[in-house]
Amino acid sequence: MGSANGVGIRPNVLEQTPKHLYIGGEWCDARGQARLEVEDPATGEPLCQVPDASVDDARAAIDAAAEAQEQWAQTPPSLRSEVLRRSYELLKHRGDELALLLTLEMGKPVKESLGEVLYGAEFFRWFAGEALRIDGYHRLAADGASRLLTTRMPVGPSYLITPWNFPAAMGARKIAPALAAGCTMVWKPAQQTPLSALALAKVLEQAGLPPGVLNVIVSSSSRAVSEPIISDPRLRKLSFTGSTRVGRELMRHSASNVLRVSMELGGNAPFVVFEDADLDAAIEGAVVAKMRNGGQACTAANRFLVQKSIAREFSERLTRRIKALQVGPGTDSGVEIGPLIDAAQRNKVAELVTDAVDRGAQAVTGGRELDRSGNFYAPTVLTDVPPRARLLREEIFGPVAPIVAFADQDEAVTLANDTEYGLVGYLYTRDIGRALRVADRLDVGMVGLNRGLVSNAAAPFGGVKASGIGREGGREGLAEFLETKYLAIDNAA
Ligand code: NAP
Repeated sequence: MGSANGVGIRPNVLEQTPKHLYIGGEWCDARGQARLEVEDPATGEPLCQVPDASVDDARAAIDAAAEAQEQWAQTPPSLRSEVLRRSYELLKHRGDELALLLTLEMGKPVKESLGEVLYGAEFFRWFAGEALRIDGYHRLAADGASRLLTTRMPVGPSYLITPWNFPAAMGARKIAPALAAGCTMVWKPAQQTPLSALALAKVLEQAGLPPGVLNVIVSSSSRAVSEPIISDPRLRKLSFTGSTRVGRELMRHSASNVLRVSMELGGNAPFVVFEDADLDAAIEGAVVAKMRNGGQACTAANRFLVQKSIAREFSERLTRRIKALQVGPGTDSGVEIGPLIDAAQRNKVAELVTDAVDRGAQAVTGGRELDRSGNFYAPTVLTDVPPRARLLREEIFGPVAPIVAFADQDEAVTLANDTEYGLVGYLYTRDIGRALRVADRLDVGMVGLNRGLVSNAAAPFGGVKASGIGREGGREGLAEFLETKYLAIDNAA
């Protein structure tokens, strides 16, 4: 970062970011001229205004995506791949600038924002390669009367909806495979964090993306602007990342238009530590799995399940480590935990902690809001958490680590699976046999084995149960945007 914590480049970054909707290759105001304010979560102060899209803007966006579909689908894979590769290069080159912008609107420490931008960039690199490998097969029918040929076609215009917690990466994870597959899109980022989305669209435009292939609308009326898009017969796919509650609503809505859906929803990750674990590694993994993004991640460890014989040592060491974390505005150097996204999220975290403490949990550190402006909550460790505490069932989405002790492997698995969610589980043990057996028994889409981080552009990210349907990243991520077509070719002599 240039000057201390990017303070010097802050006005430039905000000034250079487009503050318009992006529809059909044009940067435009909302048709009704409405605007919405973007706030800095570290201060609650306004940062800037962006257009507030209406239903008419949404219609224009789906029109543009539908119009561009055929030509983009027919664009040779090598050209699609080149746009993706150039996007990767540009994102890497502009990483510091985009990271600062992300921190300004979302709050996470700049170092983490840079990590997010580079993680997002990796999807463009990965899918630049995958765009060249879309294949089908040829097979002779069993009776020899026909030849069977399959091809993989783009599914068609897609609607992407993303949350505020990873405003750049959640977009990148959908846009890159959609482009590789030959799909056009309308993207609606969360209203709290539109700037990273608009900046990413600008990067793609600079990388040579033709008009109409990606359209971005920002709106304070998500439900209203989504309605005409989701019910448009030209739309073929909905890819959503967000809460399970909204995901369920959107699935119901998508049914009437028989849309393909990908749902990346909520989580309630168990972080299981067996007595034979490398405790140093487990503590470091716990800090990453819990405190990255201040706990505002679908993959955040939500419950620490620790074998009884080491539970006390684990809590003491984790508490020491968490107490030492530096909390403050994400733009300040050395800060490790930023503010929560807004006052509502901070109040929800406070409510969950109060509920646990009222039921008998001990707050060994934290357990309170910080006495300063902005949406800060103190990093917290809770021990003796009773089974009925709400935070063992609900996503905390804040820097709170509840610890629960277990007796043996069976109890660990039962506790871990005692949730409607099934996104990710973390396991710490040196016994590879146990690791593999327990990993098999966890009802999750992903397992971190002696690691507090699972995300990777080359891997299939996603969950089971109420955590969603479908995968992002890896070969699987491309398949979400492809449809199989089969040709029966007569083989008569
Ligand atoms: P959210 O309330 O479900 O919102 C997510 C997105 O949906 C936002 O763009 C939101 O727009 C939009 N939205 C809300 N209601 C809508 C409706 N009725 N119709 C159309 N769009 C609608 O979730 P959030 O609180 O922002 O994000 C946190 C959640 O995302 C957590 O549950 C987290 O676990 C999940 N998440 C999952 C993954 C994953 O990969 N599994 C990754 C990250 C986050 P507005 O906010 O502007 O209204």
